Order: sequence, then C-alpha cells, then structure tokens
Amino acid sequence: MLGLYVHIPFCSAICNYCNFNRGLFDPALKQRYVPALLDEITRAGDGSAADTIFFGGGTPSLLEPAEIGAIIARLRDSFALTADAEVTLEANPETVTPERLSGFLEAGVTRLSYGVQSLRDAELGRLSRLHSAARARLAVGEARAAGFTNLSLDLMMWLPEQTVAQWVESVDGLIALEPDHASLYILELYPNAPLRETMSRSRWSLAPDDDAADMYLAAMERLDRAGYGQYEISNVSRPGRASRHNLKYWTEGEWLGFGCGAHSTRHGVRWKNVSGTEDYIAAVAQQGRLRVEERVLSAQMQLEEALFTRMRLAEGVSLADVGNRFGVDIWARYGPSLQRFMDAGMDLLIYDGDRLRLTRSGMLLANEIVAVFIEPPMR
Ligand code: SF4
Repeated sequence: MLGLYVHIPFCSAICNYCNFNRGLFDPALKQRYVPALLDEITRAGDGSAADTIFFGGGTPSLLEPAEIGAIIARLRDSFALTADAEVTLEANPETVTPERLSGFLEAGVTRLSYGVQSLRDAELGRLSRLHSAARARLAVGEARAAGFTNLSLDLMMWLPEQTVAQWVESVDGLIALEPDHASLYILELYPNAPLRETMSRSRWSLAPDDDAADMYLAAMERLDRAGYGQYEISNVSRPGRASRHNLKYWTEGEWLGFGCGAHSTRHGVRWKNVSGTEDYIAAVAQQGRLRVEERVLSAQMQLEEALFTRMRLAEGVSLADVGNRFGVDIWARYGPSLQRFMDAGMDLLIYDGDRLRLTRSGMLLANEIVAVFIEPPMR
C-alpha cells in the first residue's frame, strides 16, 4: 500500500528555529499552488492502492477546508484509496476555528496533528510561535467537539532556558489533554537559525547536554504511566493509534510525495521534487520535469536503510527477516561491531537471537549505534 504525502509550504510567520521548506502565506500564490498540486496528482495517478494521506508543511491548516477536500478527492480519483484510509492534517493551533475544524472533518481528514511545541507561554514566545498555551488547549477541545477521534500533539524539548521541571510541566499538560498520539522532539538548531542570534542577544542559554537525556527519560516514564505505548524513538500512542503513514518511512514502505520539495520512494527509486514554490508551479504548468534529485537505491543501500530505520522502532528489527530478504547473515556481519553496546554496564542494546532493539537509554544514542550499519562491515 502506498502512502501519499502532500506538501503545503505556507506559514503565517516563520518560526526562528525552522529549517523546513516553507515561506510566508501569500493568498495569490496559494491560488496558483493548489491547482498545480491537483495537476501533479492527476499526472502521477495510476490507480495503485494507497491507505494513507499526510498533509505536511509548512502549515497545511492554512488551506481552506474546500481546498483540502479537493485535494483528497483528486487523490481518491487517481489512486485506489482504502475505505479506512488514515488522512492526517498537520495544523497549528492559531489557524483553527470550530467551523474550519468541522470543514476539515467533512473534507475527509481523519487525523489531526497539532504543532503545540510547549505548554508554557514563555517558551512559546522564545520560539516565536504565534499561539499561547491556552490557545493550544482550546484547539484540542475544539477538535474533540468537532468530532476528531484521532488527535496527535507535538512537543519540543531542550529549549533555550528550559529546565527539566519546566519541560515536565508541558509533558504533564499534554497528558492532561489526553491526545491519542504524541511526538516529542529535541530542538535542533541549524547553523544560521535566527534563534541563535536571538539567544546570544538575549543571553539565553541552551539547557545543559545532560538535561536532554533527563528530559527524554522523564517524559517517556510519565507517558508510560499514563498508558501510552512508545513505538518509535520520538513517538508514543494509545493502542492502535500509531501513525500508519509515518510507519511507512520506518518499515521500507513506499510513498509518493506531491508539492514543492516533496520526497518519494517507489520501486527502489528515491526522488525529490523541485523545492521552490514558484519553480514547482512553473514546472507543472509546462508539464516539465519536477524531479531534481533521483537515485536508484542499491541492494546495499536498501539493507542499510532497513536496519537503520527499523532500529528506530521500539520493537526493533528481526535480523532473520531482513537477512533473508537481502541474503545476508546480519549478525555475522555487524555483530562484532554491535557487541560493545551490549557489554556489561552498557544497557543500550538487546539481542535475543533474532530481534535486535535499542533500550530506552540506547535510544538516546541511536545515531551512534546505528552508524555501525553504514560503517564498512567487519571481516
Ligand atoms: S509553523 Fe512549522 S513549518 Fe511553519 S515556520 Fe513554524 S516550524 Fe516552520
């Protein structure tokens, strides 16, 4: 089953830490972008089976419900979408109203994912977010009242000036809102992020390195106690509410991305659409080539990626399954390099003879550990 991703590159303001492919909302540009998206979908449509749609951005909730509805309808016309397809819309709390939320639900959205980031106003202000904690709480209530039964909330940790206790306040606030799913990310500052400049001007410091681990572990313990199950390094959910779309990225699924800068992976080929919004609209209008990067994934790349991404999952990876698929004895090839993470006192990695998985402490060092799979194999 394919996943279908739709990129909406518009935001009401640009957050000072954001490195995504987005620009300021421009109604005239949007008027030309949505028809281009519809054209691209029609061109790519081949009737293949699909079971997820994901509107990401940017801020997809800046589109009108009728525009979201038109895109979903075009995807339904162009692909064989299952009746129970998961249709996610990323939304910012300040962009929704009860009417708009009802409109999104009627348009076919089944899952709402709010970028909350923090439930403390001082932190939201430092991140230049447009909403307050009260607005985020209200937006959750409005989504429930509109009839959304699958709601996800995002939080970010390790923010400037944030203490572990303050972070825990946001986590407890999130739990009190009873979402079906939550994603917790560590703030990563790219080299020229405007937030860096603001931090030095305002003399805000990043929390100490050790706090990131304490924040992560404290949040996961609280979410465990509240009945959430961790299924991926950064994601927890109520039973049956894991993100079906995002799971495709971690389990060698196939997906098609529509819109500027969208990535796709299908039949062992990965590509990316042209990034600029105007360039994208022009390329669609001229029936030109949208792909700016394309590469065939070799068997070795596919093997590394299968191990790399599946290790992000709490259930880990069955080495027998992956090994049989690629004709490789994975433990023989990588076991000697992995052993050091299992040695006495490490408690980072568990291997039961088939399944290899990270412990929660191991998840904090996931990048270092999974790098083993892209190092030259030990002989
Ligand atoms: S709302 Fe999201 S996509 Fe838009 S600028 Fe802020 S972080 Fe980036």
